[in-house]
Amino acid sequence: MADRPSEFALIARYFAPLARDPGALALGDDAALLENYAGTQTVVTTDALVAGVHFLADDPPHLVAQKALRVNLSDLAAKGAAPAGYLLALSLPQDFDAAWVEDFAAGLQEDQQRFGVSLLGGDTTATPGPLTLAITALGRVPQGRMLQRRGARPDDLVFVSGSIGDAGAGLAVLQGKLKAAEHAQYLIGRTRLPTPRLDLGTALHGVATASLDVSDGLLADLGHIAEVSQVRITVESERVPLSPAFRATCGETPAAIVHAATAGDDYEIAFTAPSEAAAQEAGKHGGVAVSRIGRVEAGQGVALLGADGHEIPVARAGFSHF
Ligand code: ADP
Ligand code: MG
Repeated sequence: MADRPSEFALIARYFAPLARDPGALALGDDAALLENYAGTQTVVTTDALVAGVHFLADDPPHLVAQKALRVNLSDLAAKGAAPAGYLLALSLPQDFDAAWVEDFAAGLQEDQQRFGVSLLGGDTTATPGPLTLAITALGRVPQGRMLQRRGARPDDLVFVSGSIGDAGAGLAVLQGKLKAAEHAQYLIGRTRLPTPRLDLGTALHGVATASLDVSDGLLADLGHIAEVSQVRITVESERVPLSPAFRATCGETPAAIVHAATAGDDYEIAFTAPSEAAAQEAGKHGGVAVSRIGRVEAGQGVALLGADGHEIPVARAGFSHF
């Protein structure tokens, strides 16, 4: 049997050094203790990742760690929250590799510095199944100001940050379904390592009427806004922002745009706002391009419109686990 560190040795060696926040009590207690700040509310979100489902077993562990953290930070960004810290629940197969955990922790370390967050606690267990991890992130918003999916109103405009479809194309490259030549590295990078749009999120206070991060697919996620806001959203297909790498690899036909708008894993922010100027200003603050892609109307559902104004049929708006 290989000599593997015990549960407690794992925590002490790899995770305690990441517990920078005094409230984490150096992972030496049963729970963390967080300060309250007057005039703020705490935003909480969690995302689980399963080997073989959300990442490939031979993906570099530090990238797995960073993606797990970043998808949570992306949720905070979409809510306009400033990140405060996170919890990590890790379930390792019995035959786990300590080097995997070491590289995983190194990835967290790097991103903690990049995004200014600290590990606050977690849990470590064995599992008979594939390696599974869940991160729970906490953030803060000014009282009453969390951006929600509800709130879009008829005549609002619809915006999205960055470019859409790169992560889906990157996954297809990894799976050997798509050839991308010199663009492969960029596209794979976009699927392995999303960029949480934290500065954009906080700049959207007072600008966005509704907001979410695009994880299931642009059209599916806009469908969530349409549903809870009880409005209809139309997206002009030729306004969906495609990167040069995506265009070069997949083209910009209606079929390629449908792919981009339904593939998911983009981790961009989609939001509605009445003012284009204010939305663009927020994009400048956030250091990311913001594109106007459509509008909000009375009604229900989401429609993708072609250049001729006719609806492009979409078989599947986005990813669903079941
Ligand atoms: P319990 O007895 O409640 O299960 P543990 O022994 O699991 O407590 O955890 C001891 C401490 O280590 C706690 O502060 C917990 O938050 C922390 N911890 C355990 N696993 C992790 C992990 N994977 N990441 C961060 N902190 C962890
Ligand atoms: Mg425990």
